[in-house]
Amino acid sequence: MYKGMRALEAGRTGLGTDGGVGSLTESAAAFLKRRLHHQRMRMAALRALKSASSLPGDRVDLQFDADSGLLDRTAAWLTDAGTGAVPSGGPPPTHYLAPRLNLVIMIVGSRGDVQPFIPIGKRLAWRHRVRIATHAEFRPMVERAGLEFYPLAGDPRELMEYMIKTGGHIVPTHLQQIVEDVPRKRQIIAEILESTWRACTEKDPDRPEAKPFVADGIIANPPSYGHFHCAEALRVPLHIVFTMPWTPTSAFPHPLTHLSPGTHHPVRNWFSYGVMDLLMWAGVADLINRFRQQTLGLRPIELNDGAATLLSDNEVPFTYLFPASVIPKPADWGSHIDLANFIFFDQADTYTPPPDLLEFLGAGERPIYVGFGSCVVQDPAATSRTIFAALEKAGARGIVSRGWGHLGGDAPPPHVHLIDDCPHDWLFARCRAVCHHGGAGTTAAGLRAGLPTVIVPFFGDQFFWGQVVFDAGAGPRPIPIDILSSDRLAEAFAVCTRPEIRIRAEELGAKIRTEDGIELVFESLRRHLPIGAMQCSGNPEHLATVYCEPCRLRLCQSCYDGRHGSHRSHPYRYVEWGVREPERLTEELRDLIADAAQALHAGRDELRPMAAPERHGIVLGDADGGQDDENVTVS
Ligand SMILES: [Zn+2]
Ligand SMILES: [Zn+2]
Repeated sequence: MYKGMRALEAGRTGLGTDGGVGSLTESAAAFLKRRLHHQRMRMAALRALKSASSLPGDRVDLQFDADSGLLDRTAAWLTDAGTGAVPSGGPPPTHYLAPRLNLVIMIVGSRGDVQPFIPIGKRLAWRHRVRIATHAEFRPMVERAGLEFYPLAGDPRELMEYMIKTGGHIVPTHLQQIVEDVPRKRQIIAEILESTWRACTEKDPDRPEAKPFVADGIIANPPSYGHFHCAEALRVPLHIVFTMPWTPTSAFPHPLTHLSPGTHHPVRNWFSYGVMDLLMWAGVADLINRFRQQTLGLRPIELNDGAATLLSDNEVPFTYLFPASVIPKPADWGSHIDLANFIFFDQADTYTPPPDLLEFLGAGERPIYVGFGSCVVQDPAATSRTIFAALEKAGARGIVSRGWGHLGGDAPPPHVHLIDDCPHDWLFARCRAVCHHGGAGTTAAGLRAGLPTVIVPFFGDQFFWGQVVFDAGAGPRPIPIDILSSDRLAEAFAVCTRPEIRIRAEELGAKIRTEDGIELVFESLRRHLPIGAMQCSGNPEHLATVYCEPCRLRLCQSCYDGRHGSHRSHPYRYVEWGVREPERLTEELRDLIADAAQALHAGRDELRPMAAPERHGIVLGDADGGQDDENVTVS
């Protein structure tokens, strides 16, 4: 499969004509060095791991051995590694003559996970053909926005149920769950994987009139599973967009973990990503490999190939949907990672509030909003009493959202008003503070409104968002639902009235409101797209698919047919993700490998890094592969 393929600009991006040490360019060597650094950090994480266990709230509690000296030794690696990855795309184009691309956006998750991609998709559709591939129930939302749709497998409700059991994510995050819960959920994941390939390559099955579709580029969130493998099979660019941190860093722990002891420790923080990546891979490894082999015709991948860490190891371009004002970009995140801003799906313009809500709002000072969204509380009556009492102690009026937890009962006290669904953008503009479960979307809405925020986390990344709000100075320490009491909550409400908290929340809100998240995401996508490698030499607005051998030009089919039709040609693609290891390595890399090998007592051969992905265009040779002497065979 890898025969007869060559980099169009060999030498510039890594592997030259002899495939040896002399041709490892500086940037490729730097890439391999970063990759090896990650590899040895992961090995050290496994070696230092004392225990991984489940916590209430379904996070994974990780404990690392502090006595062996490994943490100290590893701290030096973090310092040595420094920062500054090279950009994965070319320089930003000075003018916008991009070919019109077929882009698929693959999203697995809840409505809140899908919504940000509606305005992002609409922005991309100014120029490109955009398809949003997600669960069938979101088809009307996507099509109403004028975007094409493709159904991915998986029912968000069923996934939500599973998420509650698996630490807020649809990837099983610890071994016990992987063994116990699983056959049905694994079936869902297998179905999602299959559907991602169809989403990249097939017509919408429910729209017979639809035009054929083959993706020229893939945008995805991490839980859509198939992203990297489909991009590898199609040899197209991939860009990941996500709402919570997913890239290893020493700045804060993985959002789905709890570290013991809880004190800030850069090495432990980094280790938490290393361990979580491995746990998540363990649950789906066989499914992914069956998908790769049977559906995509790719070779299987193993841990030694970096299978658990494809996105970070290959420095796949990544855009996070939160602003640096709320979570500063960690120094160890490379330039392939951008922070944009929260993306909102506003509804205030079309919302008609019920009269009793307006009446309550008009009858006194601004209330505190309290709501736990789709989180289910164990004893709604008791939790309601706690909330009412806390509001009373704080001398505040409250609007309480019933939510899935059925808060409030039938007869709330006069200082409380109960509501059902109400758009956050409309309601929060009329509140003075918010108290919620810490879902990413609700957290963003409260911060944008400039409101002091109390987070009562239930599971998963909600604890992380609670910590983020506290660290940003926009609210008190989070109060996990298990220890919620009226005293604690009243105290938290009191913190929200402190001037420094209110001022900080207002500042953050102003910043979030001025930065156009959609435009920032769009710029990030554009910057990382290897557009130069995708343009036809005849016309930069055409998409190159053919390489003309004698003219040494990449061309679109029609330019090729027009002037070069009699010339020898090869198929042409843009990105080679499935690169294999370089044959030889520089001395410096050898030392790093030795360190990594020592970290796990492993053999050096198992720790060879794969070469940098080829992102500057590749020529696919003859079917029999590598017969042409002129061809520079990459592997
Ligand atoms: Zn052309
Ligand atoms: Zn030609």
